[in-house]
Amino acid sequence: MVNLYYGGKIPEVIYVVSENQSVRYLKGVGEKRAAMYLKLGIETVGDLLRYFPRDYIDLSKVYSLSEAPRGEKCAIRAEVTAKSAEMRIRKGLSVFKVTATDGERDMVITYFNTKYTVQGLKIGEEYIFYGTVTGSFVAPEMSSPMVIKSENINKFIPIYGLTAGLTSKVIAANVRTAVDIMSGNIKDYLDEKIKDGYSLCDLEKAIINIHFPENREILKEAKSRIVFDEALQTCIGLAMMRKKNEGVAGVSMQKKDLDPFCKALPFKLTSAQIRAVREITDDMCKSVPMNRLLQGDVGSGKTAVCAAAAYFAYLNGKQTALMAPTELLARQHYDTLKKMLEFSGMRIELITGSVKTKEKRAAYERAENCESDLVVGTHALIEDKLRFGALGLVVTDEMHRFGVAQRAKLDNKDGNPHMLVMSATPIPRTLAYVSYGDLDISELNELPGGRIPVKTYLVDGSKRKRAYGFIKRFLDENRKGYIICPLVEDDEENESGLFNVEEYAENIKNEEFKGYGVGVLHGKMKPSEKEEVMRKFKYGDLDLLVATTVIEVGIDVPEANVILIENAERFGMSQLHQLRGRVGRGKEQAYCILVSDSKNDLTQERLKTVASTTDGFELAKKDLEMRGPGDFFGYRQHGTSEENYNIQQNSEILRKAREAAEIILSDDPGLEKTENEKLRERAIKICEFVLK
Ligand code: ADP
Ligand code: MG
Repeated sequence: MVNLYYGGKIPEVIYVVSENQSVRYLKGVGEKRAAMYLKLGIETVGDLLRYFPRDYIDLSKVYSLSEAPRGEKCAIRAEVTAKSAEMRIRKGLSVFKVTATDGERDMVITYFNTKYTVQGLKIGEEYIFYGTVTGSFVAPEMSSPMVIKSENINKFIPIYGLTAGLTSKVIAANVRTAVDIMSGNIKDYLDEKIKDGYSLCDLEKAIINIHFPENREILKEAKSRIVFDEALQTCIGLAMMRKKNEGVAGVSMQKKDLDPFCKALPFKLTSAQIRAVREITDDMCKSVPMNRLLQGDVGSGKTAVCAAAAYFAYLNGKQTALMAPTELLARQHYDTLKKMLEFSGMRIELITGSVKTKEKRAAYERAENCESDLVVGTHALIEDKLRFGALGLVVTDEMHRFGVAQRAKLDNKDGNPHMLVMSATPIPRTLAYVSYGDLDISELNELPGGRIPVKTYLVDGSKRKRAYGFIKRFLDENRKGYIICPLVEDDEENESGLFNVEEYAENIKNEEFKGYGVGVLHGKMKPSEKEEVMRKFKYGDLDLLVATTVIEVGIDVPEANVILIENAERFGMSQLHQLRGRVGRGKEQAYCILVSDSKNDLTQERLKTVASTTDGFELAKKDLEMRGPGDFFGYRQHGTSEENYNIQQNSEILRKAREAAEIILSDDPGLEKTENEKLRERAIKICEFVLK
């Protein structure tokens, strides 16, 4: 069987099939598709096999309307009994109503803008509809369900994360080819003892079944093996990196008086902040480098703690690097820290992509010659370009990356700096342990005094006008506000009914918010443009910012006290909480309005939860229960299933993986034995990804 052809040009039989071959040699891929795959981080056949589905269409059971589980997607068998004519709601939005019966109950199905799907449905014929059943028990409804071909019944159809040009169907077909070719050739790198000991299935079985499971049990088994493997490889990778770092001296510091810092602050530190500062500075006095996570809800005041630590390093004659995920955040940190530390005479630098080359070079030199005390910038810049003369402390903000790996990456003349990772997302201890190694945690479990919790309302689109009126009242009092939309512009692969920033801003500028300063902010803008908008919003004549989630992390504008989030159903609970955290940073009552027309029960429940609690920790925990831990592996770009993973169960797998890593490494510390070769390769691959 010749399943491969070479380069897409001269067909040629390839006898040796290996996971390391480029995907473009797969039948049905070719140059063009290979380029698309590359955008998903998929280069080789092995990468493709490890591109796991984000979710599944579960057709293993077909339900009648009365049996259908509520709030979950499922397949319903029903006969179409009536179809409405096209109803034009407004420009670009038509609605179709279809009635179908399962013999016992009728349901109303609504479709938006899908003329052809509806035309294809014939009255009197039976179909399988896949979607979420909503409405009351006696009057069930479905919104835009998929129509499933009968040959697919009894199967699970994988759904993959996409990039422009690749559909889930195409990916599934290519994965199927890869699975067929590789079957019998996927080498397992775990020996039988470990597999038996932890009740794990074969790697090949796991890979085949995570893509094309026959049933739920097999899928669960496959997932356990995959989660185990990733955790194991991470643990081993970390252990190898740690070993590489062993023997490099830490930068040990001396106790110093921080009173001048506290006195210069415009507020009193909370007791949680004081405790965190003490834990951090205690660590910095030890000869082993610190590896600490500073965890605190949005607005808990992590920046001040970071400033104290930087000041402490400065008093010890050492430099601090602060790395932020975006230029915008880097600039904001720079502004805040400059103010907070002005009293000290510390030399503070901002290095971002928009700084001119000549100035940048001068700044690099100052860092190397110890002529700067605190350097603020984006990760990429600091990690790739800078060499420090006497780096004592590295702080990363809002990045779930491995502390150990990052330390290995930084170029310092002066040994191993202390590491502090700041995060607003609580990470369960087991996960932290696996993904960061031996990590200590400081928690800011208290918000600065005088802060009033943000009031959150959940409304549907019919209340939009009223919400605008509400926002205007604040703008008229010189306050500021945000409106968040999920998309940037119209030409993105658009699922119907999603708002985009460009069009939205244009509309409200000419209508409801005529005469107000409306600005636009999104990730496709140049850094300099973004900064200009932020500056105008913070200090100038912009009142209302229509933005994507670029504002999600860290933006701090105290005058902003109202935020409206469109298509709220599109965001995770933690994400909504982060977005909401952009307001309520001053002393006045702030408001968050979640707008959603989703009728999905689970979605409604999520949104109601966000509206009813301001406890970020609680929300993140619930989020995790719903999502599974994949997102916490910072290197991870491939989506895991959105199915309800059970975090408890995963914690157990992670614990086992760590134990297994220890067993394997104690037997073969350098993973030099032939049977461990593959494992070593994978572990190194993970490290390299982290180390880039
Ligand atoms: P986050 O933890 O989300 O990064 P920030 O460090 O941005 O929070 O702090 C949020 C706001 O609270 C800032 O405006 C900051 O000046 C203020 N703040 C921080 N600590 C205190 C405190 N102890 N008392 C009063 N305000 C504080
Ligand atoms: Mg912050």
